[in-house]
Amino acid sequence: MRTILITGGAGFIGSNLVRQLVRSEQYRVINVDKLTYAGNLFSLKDLEDSPNYTFVQGDIGDGMLMLDLLHRYQCDGVMNLAAESHVDRSIGSPGDFVQTNVVGTYELLEATREYWQSLAEEKSANFRFIHVSTDEVFGSLGDEGAFTESTPYSPNSPYSASKASSDHLVRAYHETFALPTITTHCSNNYGPYQFPEKLIPLIIAKAVEGKPLPVYGTGLNVRDWLHVEDHCTALRTIYESGNVGETYNIGGGTEKSNLDVVNIICDTVDRLTGSSKKSSDKIEFVRDRPGHDFRYAIDCSKLNNDLGWQAAVSFEQGIEATVKWYLANSDWVESTRKNGYDGQRLGIDAEG
Ligand code: NAD
Repeated sequence: MRTILITGGAGFIGSNLVRQLVRSEQYRVINVDKLTYAGNLFSLKDLEDSPNYTFVQGDIGDGMLMLDLLHRYQCDGVMNLAAESHVDRSIGSPGDFVQTNVVGTYELLEATREYWQSLAEEKSANFRFIHVSTDEVFGSLGDEGAFTESTPYSPNSPYSASKASSDHLVRAYHETFALPTITTHCSNNYGPYQFPEKLIPLIIAKAVEGKPLPVYGTGLNVRDWLHVEDHCTALRTIYESGNVGETYNIGGGTEKSNLDVVNIICDTVDRLTGSSKKSSDKIEFVRDRPGHDFRYAIDCSKLNNDLGWQAAVSFEQGIEATVKWYLANSDWVESTRKNGYDGQRLGIDAEG
């Protein structure tokens, strides 16, 4: 059984990843999470009694704690998911993003380097540091083409700029210190346990309540969608078989405009709740977000061809299952309404 330190494991993708690895019984997971507004231990309640799962509340910016955890649990690897992740919030308070995504990643890298350099040869050779990043570091596409692993960085929001900075630090720790790192760039995720300020859970909640659905600009901005379970299997595949020092794109091959996504969700909610009203009548176009990227598309043929990973969940199946999950788990949605989050935001877009 391999022991992995997962950071940000109480968040959306982190909690799904922790669950997948703990249930596989091939991993012991140490989940370290600061529990910001986006972290929610209720997402992992079902794992509380698992012998191969431990939760520690902590900040990745606390290098001493990170070093202590790596030694205490004799970790075989790190998967770094801890981040400030919401683009709109990065416009209002970019400092939090620099602190966690840049300084926090630096502190985690330093602690990992010190620990890794102390390991015996075999354990050190098998050690991996997986840095979970986003396709948003590549900026915006026009109507054609897709991001590859060699697309130049061109981040447009404070969120993507802070993620890009952390990617460069991770790369430098491999080039300079030979730390066995791998960085991933994934497209937009959806699925269970996603904080309800993000597009899909927000639309589901508002459609169920019959509230207006504010969509940024014309709603024609395009995103590539991937079910979170598929993202987690990709991360596990990359952890187990990826090449050290490389980067991998992860995507679902499902390009949709924001307006299409909102309409699909509205139809699914109306059908599943038996509503006679048309939720999509409540769509309202609002002033566009500054610096709003037009289109993201991901070429993940490297991951498909070199490591044999394929997305398994179609967008249609995934949306149906996700809407059903949110309808059945209103107690989980309620549990996120802490720290003053009241379901409000300016407009609706897809950024993760
Ligand atoms: P999230 O906001 O749901 O979860 C982030 C988690 O990190 C939360 O549990 C939070 O408490 C924790 N955290 C924040 N600051 C911390 C700190 N300083 N120390 C320890 N923990 C801290 O985010 P998510 O959507 O699950 O994204 C996870 C990772 O995947 C992020 O790095 C994000 O950039 C990346 N990503 C997300 C998407 C997406 O569509 N959601 C797509 C590609 C990449």
